[in-house]
Amino acid sequence: MNSINPTNAGALLTIDLDAICSNWLVLKARLSSTDCAAVVKADAYGLGARRVAPALYRVGCRHFFVAHLGEGIDLRPVLPAGAAIYVMHGLPPGAEAECAAHGLVPVLNSLQQIDAWRAMTAGRGQKLPAIVQVDSGMARLGLSARELRQLSHNPSAFDGIAVAFVMSHLACADEPDHPANAAQLASFVASRRMLPKAPATFANSSGIFLGPAFHFDLARPGAALYGVAPVPGQPNPMQPVVRLQGKVMQTRIVEAGAAVGYSLSWVAPRASRIATVSVGYADGYLRSLGGRGSAWLGKVALPLVGRVSMDTITIDVSALPEDATLPGTLIDLLSPHHTVDDVATCAGTIGYEILTSLGHRYQRHYKDAIPV
Ligand SMILES: *Cc1c(COP(=O)(O)O)cnc(C)c1O
Repeated sequence: MNSINPTNAGALLTIDLDAICSNWLVLKARLSSTDCAAVVKADAYGLGARRVAPALYRVGCRHFFVAHLGEGIDLRPVLPAGAAIYVMHGLPPGAEAECAAHGLVPVLNSLQQIDAWRAMTAGRGQKLPAIVQVDSGMARLGLSARELRQLSHNPSAFDGIAVAFVMSHLACADEPDHPANAAQLASFVASRRMLPKAPATFANSSGIFLGPAFHFDLARPGAALYGVAPVPGQPNPMQPVVRLQGKVMQTRIVEAGAAVGYSLSWVAPRASRIATVSVGYADGYLRSLGGRGSAWLGKVALPLVGRVSMDTITIDVSALPEDATLPGTLIDLLSPHHTVDDVATCAGTIGYEILTSLGHRYQRHYKDAIPV
């Protein structure tokens, strides 16, 4: 259990690939006939795209979304040819040949990108696939209403392009009652009529829970696969995926009235045993958790006291017997009873940011039914 970590790392990060796969299957079951992709951008939300994507492929996932072209190039060799990899940021100018050479499918976000991809297809004798993204109200990426009208006057705009999906993205899917959801849906349906007939992809994790009208042909969950609650405030149907255990370096008794950490911001109200744990903001343990976060040992919650340093945090372990927190003891910082969402609430952020901040000094351990 809380045995001494055999490595020199300051913390152990366990990533449960089986839980990610079972979360994908839970979402897939909710989608009935709609297919389910996996969004693995930002290194699968910090959990390791090159481990996560092949595991999902083994349970049936065939559609993978990354943000950057470089992320797609990195992922392509670890997935079979039958898996499609879509690059959501589309084509940086001049990158068309590289995108095609790596067998990646761009998400075309502007008229210029459509023109550039069509030019790539010239003389190939076969169509090149692409997704076409429309802006349905978020004003971030995708064709505007004006660009759609322009396109509809150009019957050869998509010559040589096999439109795999028409796509858009929801701004407020995590707020089921927000009127923007219905407005974006209506806008998306109208936009599709102005484009070549093709399947559609619309819903992210939370969008899946808005109901079948939002499902179309392919859903694109990310966060829910990694255990983040898709509907804030509701019971979370997803399994937790990460466990982060920080290692105790030493403990000390501080007397009542003595202070701990930078700025001496925490003053002990009574004599307390303080454990110094080797995780800090350089590991993505957010500084905003100072004085607010907590750690757990078994079922005992232990308050974080004082500031979060670059490499250390200090935890009040007075509630435990002295021999329970000897140097090398692992203390839970993220676990099934102190989830990514719980920590995010403490830190004033969202689970997405807790995951994508997870640091690179941790010893990473993958739980996987089929070891690679
Ligand atoms: C990140 C992203 C997703 C996945 O969103 P989640 O909320 O993590 O499920 C889907 N589509 C687009 C366009 C994205 O940028």
